[in-house]
Amino acid sequence: MATLVIKDLHVDVDTENGPKEILKGVDLTVNDGEVHAIMGPNGSGKSTLAYAVAGHPKYHITQGTVTLDGTELQDLPVDERAKAGLFLGMQYPVEVPGVSMANFLRTAKTALDGHAPKVRTWPKQVNTALAEMDLDSEFSSRSVNEGFSGGEKKRGEIAQLELLDPSFAILDEIDSGLDIDALKVVAGGIDAFSKKPGKAVLLITHYTRILRYVHPDRVHVFVDGRVSVTGGSELADNLEERGYEQYVK
Ligand code: ADP
Ligand code: MG
Ligand code: MG
Repeated sequence: MATLVIKDLHVDVDTENGPKEILKGVDLTVNDGEVHAIMGPNGSGKSTLAYAVAGHPKYHITQGTVTLDGTELQDLPVDERAKAGLFLGMQYPVEVPGVSMANFLRTAKTALDGHAPKVRTWPKQVNTALAEMDLDSEFSSRSVNEGFSGGEKKRGEIAQLELLDPSFAILDEIDSGLDIDALKVVAGGIDAFSKKPGKAVLLITHYTRILRYVHPDRVHVFVDGRVSVTGGSELADNLEERGYEQYVK
């Protein structure tokens, strides 16, 4: 199962001048089996929402709750949120020099499952997941994201998603920096994940083009730290034509 319920979420970010409120009361429910898109202008707080739900230490939930299948996440450390089934594909995946993809994936999988993946089958699973994202098997011996192109980083995030097999995936601008072929590959991976039983996806994007390949059940427009309007996929078509201005006061 994978139902995420966000209620009246207020979030401060640490800045040089002290805490600043970025999220101002977000209400959002993504039910098991659904794909929701969050769209919105730059600076509206989309990444802040992703980080706050995932448990980034610079983002402080000052009010409200986030539950995944009834488990309250907001007071749990990052690793406990991951164990509860949450995955964050980051807008800017972090480079980790000196840690190979293979090592990182094995360590993460071991931490999530409480035991190491099977020696006999795991390397093959890794190679298959990489190949599905058009990444050569040599990527498993490279340092995590180091020297990867923008598109390779994003494809690597989806390979991770496939291997770590969370229940709920938040994907933050996974489509930015992808050319059309890579976009189709990444979208195919997201679509396949979302169709497995017990999964749900929150797809954060600035652009509508990925929604031609991954069809959301609901679309939310995010403005100034909250959900401004919610609709079906027709809302994305409307945004394509008329832009975000109509929703910005
Ligand atoms: P989006 O992902 O929608 O583009 P963000 O969540 O990245 O928006 O940012 C929302 C707002 O919060 C922006 O105005 C941004 O400048 C501000 N913000 C985010 N992180 C920080 C930070 N560490 N310090 C200061 N301001 C920040
Ligand atoms: Mg589905
Ligand atoms: Mg962002």
